[in-house]
Amino acid sequence: AAGVMWFRRDLRVHDNHALSRALASCAVVHCVFVFDTNILAGLPRADRRVEFIRESVDELDASLRELSGGAEGGLIVLHAGAKDAVPALARQLGVDAVFANHDDEPASLARDAAVRTALAAQRIGLHTFKDHVVFERKELLTQAGAPYSVFTPYRNAWLAKVTAGDLAAHRMEAHASRLAARPPATRAGVPPLTDLGFQRTNLGALGIAPGERGAQRLFAVFEPRMSAYGRTRDFPSVKGPSYLGIHLRFGTISIRALARRAHAAALAGDEGAATWLSELIWRDFYAQVLANFPHVAGPGGESRSFKPAYDAIEWEDGVAAEGLLAAWCEGRTGYPLVDAAMAQINSTGYMHNRLRMVVASFLCKDLGIDWRRGERYFALHLNDYELASNNGGWQWASSSGCDAQPYFRIFNPLSQSRKFDPEGRFIRRYLPQLAALSGDALHAPWTASAAELSQAGVVLGRDYPHPIVDHDAARTRTLERYAVVKTPA
Ligand code: FAD
Repeated sequence: AAGVMWFRRDLRVHDNHALSRALASCAVVHCVFVFDTNILAGLPRADRRVEFIRESVDELDASLRELSGGAEGGLIVLHAGAKDAVPALARQLGVDAVFANHDDEPASLARDAAVRTALAAQRIGLHTFKDHVVFERKELLTQAGAPYSVFTPYRNAWLAKVTAGDLAAHRMEAHASRLAARPPATRAGVPPLTDLGFQRTNLGALGIAPGERGAQRLFAVFEPRMSAYGRTRDFPSVKGPSYLGIHLRFGTISIRALARRAHAAALAGDEGAATWLSELIWRDFYAQVLANFPHVAGPGGESRSFKPAYDAIEWEDGVAAEGLLAAWCEGRTGYPLVDAAMAQINSTGYMHNRLRMVVASFLCKDLGIDWRRGERYFALHLNDYELASNNGGWQWASSSGCDAQPYFRIFNPLSQSRKFDPEGRFIRRYLPQLAALSGDALHAPWTASAAELSQAGVVLGRDYPHPIVDHDAARTRTLERYAVVKTPA
């Protein structure tokens, strides 16, 4: 039999479940990646993620060519609507089956359903496999047979269930000779970014290396830091986290490989590794929330609260609210930690996890802006944007989601600043105009004395904004706003 391996968010040859299954069950396997015009149309023209994908696809093509041992091998790369292009290619190649990995985002499920129907009409099967999480869909259920909606019992169940088999690699090297030569008409190669309608970004300047090789290098530098992760992960000025999010998003590294290493170290008593493994489990957790409670992503892409009562909250609107939202997006709130965090995402596409929590809470609980507006901003700007985790994170911050904490736990942006950037190193890096301030004058410039400000050469309202909101007053308004929610916990 002949098959097509359709790569999507799994841009790697090693430990790729669908690729290993295609090669194990077909005598000849063609590989394809589609730059899907339906997805690309909604993105900004300078988008680090598109550049990352393009570079990763280039590397994937080279790896496949090397594995198949000939210049005619490699990836068939299309720039088209995947929904029609994949069935058309399968027909043209005369294959019996198409292989792909699961993608449980609503738009992807709809696309795959359409492809499955079109292929079925040609008597071609679409075979899909779990690949981007360790446990998916309904693999982990409560004793009552329901999906989990609280993290801690989910993590305990995950750790109790996981075996070496769940984390083992899906090997394909033995069958690599089954990779097909490309028909001459499909050997065009990977189109340059400009042909796709996109511009170069600062991805390279940021040192973000794409592809499997980039991921392996990043993990190699993180692994010795893993045992310190528990101590370092909350401080944005410290190189604590792995920065692997973008690689997990596009599948340039295997979740099984990462979880296997972290799990083994955790079993050997490494607490930092256990904490990092917990973060990987959060990723599985939110993926199964999206799969089992798809209302969170809403019909037509408008997210809904996990707890429906929270959709009754009335958010600020009108011109004033638009002004507050713009100040948040552009990092002009007058709260240095919030503004430095927004400068980080705007200039790099990354934001430290602690800061994602701080700015998300600030948007909905200090500014009274609908969390969905922030969710959308992150979706456009985060390199590691993942619908399930982003939606989960925003719902956590707005208290509308899978969080055991009641809504009246409101982050104080000033205490967060003092606690997690105590010396202001992160703030100074992203807000150099405040670099000469220190202590509370840096965390809250509006409390600084005239002498402190003039010594640091800072004029509030000129070099840095006055705060756009008073936290204590905002806190009171938020408690009133959330009072419509009858069952807070
Ligand atoms: P590390 O700290 O090294 O963690 C390793 C990996 O574990 C991450 O790459 C990620 O895949 C996973 N992970 C870690 N924390 C979480 C978490 N809380 N939820 C789910 N997965 C987690 N993560 C995304 O991958 N995409 C998003 O779009 C996203 N949006 C978020 C929005 C908000 C409001 C919040 C509060 C969090 C969001 N997160 C998101 C989770 C987390 O902030 C990022 O995964 C993490 O900061 C990425 O950095 P890293 O790769 O260095 O992570």
